Amino acid sequence: MLMCHVKGCATDNFPLRIEDAELEQVEVEFNEDFMRRMINKIEWGAFVQTAFALGVDQLPATVPENIDTEFLQRIHRVAMETKLKEGKMICNGCKHVYPVTDGIPNMLLQETEV
Ligand SMILES: [Zn+2]
Repeated sequence: MLMCHVKGCATDNFPLRIEDAELEQVEVEFNEDFMRRMINKIEWGAFVQTAFALGVDQLPATVPENIDTEFLQRIHRVAMETKLKEGKMICNGCKHVYPVTDGIPNMLLQETEV
């Protein structure tokens, strides 16, 4: 997830604020089981906040009780198919700027983290 890794930075270091973002849509095969697992693992509040800041989607503040396929597809589109191509990620805690120049694998997380 988008968290500051500067040594000693422990407060307000998550999620990183994104500025000057240039987004890119890619096509990734939808995997329902994977998305279901992912939803249970991500910091939902941070995810919603980041998606909103990027203007990607308006997501509910809490995870719905009944997660249906349509909802999972929506999350898939945001988390897996939206990439940050160019921009800056800024830590609210220590103000460290992480420039993004040639894209990061996913907007919000790496598959290996799930
Ligand atoms: Zn920091």
